[in-house]
Amino acid sequence: MKDTKIALVTGANKGIGFAIAHGLGAIGFTVAVGARDDARRSEAVARLRAADVNAFGVALDVTSDQSVTEAAATIERAAGRLDVLVNNAGIAGRTDGGAQDPTTLDLDVVRTVLETNVFGVVRVTNAMLPLLRRAASPRIVNMSSNMGSLALRTGPILAAYAPSKSMLNSITAQYARRLADTNVIVNAACPGYVATDFTGFNAPRTPEQGAAIAIRLATLPDDGPRGGFFDDEGVVPW
Ligand code: NDP
Repeated sequence: MKDTKIALVTGANKGIGFAIAHGLGAIGFTVAVGARDDARRSEAVARLRAADVNAFGVALDVTSDQSVTEAAATIERAAGRLDVLVNNAGIAGRTDGGAQDPTTLDLDVVRTVLETNVFGVVRVTNAMLPLLRRAASPRIVNMSSNMGSLALRTGPILAAYAPSKSMLNSITAQYARRLADTNVIVNAACPGYVATDFTGFNAPRTPEQGAAIAIRLATLPDDGPRGGFFDDEGVVPW
C-alpha cells in the first residue's frame, strides 16, 4: 500500500461516490471507502474487490468529530499518508411541508443539510490535511452542484440544499487561497444530473458519468487549476 496512491472517498457506499471509488481503483489507486453504515460499507468494499479494486473500508460519518478523527487515524495506520480526498457525501434534506421553500423555510433542515454538506467537508478536510500534506501531489475534490451556482440558478427551489452547495463553493475558494503556496490542489465539481438514490434514479446521467469530473480533478497535474468549479464541459459559473 505504501507504493500505490491512496484515495479517500466519503459516502462511497453507493451512487456517485461508489463510482468514484471504482474509477480511481481502476486507475491504480488504493481506495479507502468512507461510509457510515457498517453493512453498506462492507458490501461496497466486497463489490469493489470483486472488480479488482484494492479497497478497504473506513468507518466515517462526516457529521461526527469522533468518527472523522478515528477515520484519519485508520488511514494513517493503513497508509501513513493520503494522496486524494473526495468529499462526496451529501444530502438533499427534507422537503415536505414547504421545508425548503424559502418563505416557509425550516431552519432545522438548513442546519442538518449544512452539517453534512458544508461542516462535514470542513471536518473531514481538516482531519485529513496532515496526511494529505505528506503526499507528493495531494488533491481535494469537493462534490458540489450547479444548483449552488448563483449565476445559473438552476433546478428546483431548494432553499437548504442549493445554498449549502453555494457555501461549499465559497469554502472551496477559501481553502484554495489558504493552500495556494502548497502542493495541495483543491477544486469543486458538479457531476451533472445523475440517476442515484438522491434523484430517485430519475435522471439522465449514470453514476460513472457523474464520477468522471471528480476523477479528473483528483488526478490533475501539478500545474492544474486551483480553486475552481468544474463539470464535464469545463468551468461552471459561480
Ligand atoms: P446518494 O444519496 O446516492 O449517496 C450519498 C452518499 O453520501 C451515500 O453514500 C450516503 O451514505 C453518504 N452520506 C450521507 N450523509 C453522510 C454522512 N453523514 N456521513 C457519511 N456519509 C454520508 O447521492 P449521490 O451519489 O447522487 O450524490 C453524491 C454527491 O453528489 C452529493 O454531494 C450530492 O449533493 C452531489 N450531487 C448529486 C447530483 C445528482 O444528480 N445525483 C447532482 C449534483 C450534485 P448512506 O448510504 O449511509 O446514506
